[in-house]
Amino acid sequence: MSVDRRSVWPYVDGEPGEFLYSRYAHPTGAEAEEKLGALEGGKALLFSSGSAATLALLLALLEPGKKVALAEGAYFGTGVIMREELGRWGLESVEFDQTGPPPDGVDLVWLEAPSNPFLTMPDLEAAAAHPARVVVDSTAATPVYLRPLEEGADFALHSATKYLTGHSDALAGAIVCKQAADHERLWRFRQRTGPTCSADVAALVSRGIKTLRVRIERQTETATLLAERLHRHPEVENVRYPGFGGLLSFDVDGDPLAVERATRLIKNATSLGSVETTMESRHRWEGDRVPVGLLRLSVGLEDPDALWADLEQALNR
Ligand code: PLP
Repeated sequence: MSVDRRSVWPYVDGEPGEFLYSRYAHPTGAEAEEKLGALEGGKALLFSSGSAATLALLLALLEPGKKVALAEGAYFGTGVIMREELGRWGLESVEFDQTGPPPDGVDLVWLEAPSNPFLTMPDLEAAAAHPARVVVDSTAATPVYLRPLEEGADFALHSATKYLTGHSDALAGAIVCKQAADHERLWRFRQRTGPTCSADVAALVSRGIKTLRVRIERQTETATLLAERLHRHPEVENVRYPGFGGLLSFDVDGDPLAVERATRLIKNATSLGSVETTMESRHRWEGDRVPVGLLRLSVGLEDPDALWADLEQALNR
């Protein structure tokens, strides 16, 4: 894994070359962007986090008075950026049920596939038929299970902190654009404002992409098995799993905090998409937006039976 950590490259015959200053671009980032772009079928840009990618997209493409339709139940931080940060700058946002068509009169449609932690899938056909441009936060689906640009979306967005890097040791985001003009606009915005991904982290994106398919296929097998067993467990109701990927959520009747604290193999931690399984109650972060008993489980690569044994002892405690 070669990492070029330079921040400055000499001019070539007195002229700036392809790389000149790392806030603009750097070779390690460009290599990872090539790989991700090939997977998604578009032109990729890396950012310092998924949230930085979200903010950049909204600021670069919209202006005060514009309105976004955001999928209900999407990652709560995305709504917080729209309402609590950009609301003050005149951005309007409205939530809608992404399993149906987006509302009329909006300038951007923001979907999440599948939504975190409700695990609904968007109606991509209905969104593509809408006149506004469409963003799909495809963090949990990954390009292994969904290529949003082929389904009519204009942008695929990732928290690369999750499955793309996959080991809970990197913070990064990505936007893949269908149109070259959007890529150019976002590149310029990133270059001017600075949420560029570091070379070290970009190298971890390239490394993660090498194992993405085998990781997520195995996570799917394990998550399918755990979802089935959770469904049959008397303490559990309402298992949400779209049938692919490593993310699921379910509700418990009793105290979810007691369940999350009782696991041993499964880490009681936030985030998702790692080789290590994590579980947490989302009520602590999201409040009444989620059921009090909702636990989000991000399935890793541990032995499936050992994971079930751990979940079972925590549920039966
Ligand atoms: N999108 C989704 C679906 C997420 O789950 C997250 C983080 O949890 C983000 C975006 C934000 O990404 P980051 O934490 O890399 O800023």
